[in-house]
Amino acid sequence: MSRSAHPAGPRHADVLTEGHYTAPPADLNALDPKVWAHTVSRNEDGVVSVGGIDVATLAEEFGTPAYFMDEADFRARARAWRTAFGHDADVFYAGKAFLSRAVVRWLYEEGLNLDVCSGGELTTALSAGMPADRIAFHGNNKSTEEITKAVESGVGRIVLDSFQEIVRVAHIAQSLGKRQRVQIRVTVGVEAHTHEFIATAHEDQKFGIALADGQAAEAVRRALALDGLEVVGIHSHIGSQIFDMAGFEVAARRVVALLAAVRDEHGVELPEIDLGGGLGIAYTSEDDPRDPHEIAKALNEIVTRECEAAKLQTPRISVEPGRAIVGPTAFTLYEVGTIKPLDGLRTYVSVDGGMSDNIRTALYDAEYSVALVSRASDAEPMLVRVVGKHCESGDIVVRDAFLPADLAPGDLIAVPATGAYCRSMASNYNHALRPPVVAVNDGEARVIVRRETEEDLLRLDVG
Ligand SMILES: *Cc1c(COP(=O)(O)O)cnc(C)c1O
Repeated sequence: MSRSAHPAGPRHADVLTEGHYTAPPADLNALDPKVWAHTVSRNEDGVVSVGGIDVATLAEEFGTPAYFMDEADFRARARAWRTAFGHDADVFYAGKAFLSRAVVRWLYEEGLNLDVCSGGELTTALSAGMPADRIAFHGNNKSTEEITKAVESGVGRIVLDSFQEIVRVAHIAQSLGKRQRVQIRVTVGVEAHTHEFIATAHEDQKFGIALADGQAAEAVRRALALDGLEVVGIHSHIGSQIFDMAGFEVAARRVVALLAAVRDEHGVELPEIDLGGGLGIAYTSEDDPRDPHEIAKALNEIVTRECEAAKLQTPRISVEPGRAIVGPTAFTLYEVGTIKPLDGLRTYVSVDGGMSDNIRTALYDAEYSVALVSRASDAEPMLVRVVGKHCESGDIVVRDAFLPADLAPGDLIAVPATGAYCRSMASNYNHALRPPVVAVNDGEARVIVRRETEEDLLRLDVG
């Protein structure tokens, strides 16, 4: 809607029409526990702290921008998933959300398994001591080197994604004198979006092998015939940032139908099904994520019911949450640099990072929230857009939010729920130095991924 349609209209007219925020929050100093890590709170002096350390101290010691990760929260969420699914199921943390050696050790200690989808992620996992049999290897175009390394190191499963890969993995395993445990990734014809899902017959996407037209059944047929492979199950991953369990229900029903068809044709009951990840988290107060116990109960019920109907033994279930474990555990701390009020529109607040440390807003139109964290303020709410320092007008961190009108250069602001797909998707655009990840726990802060330096940049530039 153009502004001229509301010559004397409300200051936030364009935001209202975009449907993001209908009104400023009642209290700008409040920190919604849904979007902030567990140990985050505002102290009596108005400064926000995490793990018992205030952000002014953290900024002083580690600089900005930086990601601060609440270790206790990470462990608690990992443990909650583990406990919710119990001993008859496996939880694989999706390493692509955020992976570092410290995180691998936390996962190991909390009893989780780990998904990787590249040689680099596999090396990181193994180098931190994750036993290979607790690792699953994913990807739609694994290289020969990656497959060889995965098979040699003895990963617990490789998730096969195409007909070519079935042959490739079988060949490599056989030439190494091994029999590799594999799952076959199918696309079930469910497109899941945040608050809805669409069941379709076909899926127009690069991952997996379609159940439609008997493709997946043919993949199982071929894989079962190859000596280098031990086919242990079927894998399905329907999307990301999902709140509605209905999509999982359809997926589970279709995967179980395939298990029944495999039993009827080959006389084998595949012992495992993996229902993937994709469970949503709260980026803003509008989102209402489900807790892992609710999710486990729903998935177990669906699979048990479908298997009873098909007269199959209930297979071992696994799930692969990434975002739901790490996403809410971290925030990005920025320093405000410049503030540009555009009369009648909004105020642009520039921070010392941007799309190089959080590409999700530009890439997916993702929504985030933001708070002033270095002090409390009683000033009026001001409609802002938080932008980075990159040479790109789409360099937006938070599209629409409210910050106090007395915001000033030098203030620290923080964007919560940046634990997943921010550092792991970070880039060096404009030769930005990728920020550190600092784990904070019980009054102690420790760098787990250090800040890049200009020497790091120059080391790669060998011309
Ligand atoms: C990305 C991915 C996940 C994790 O997704 P989240 O949204 O982070 O939970 C799990 N499994 C597979 C196969 C994936 O590609």
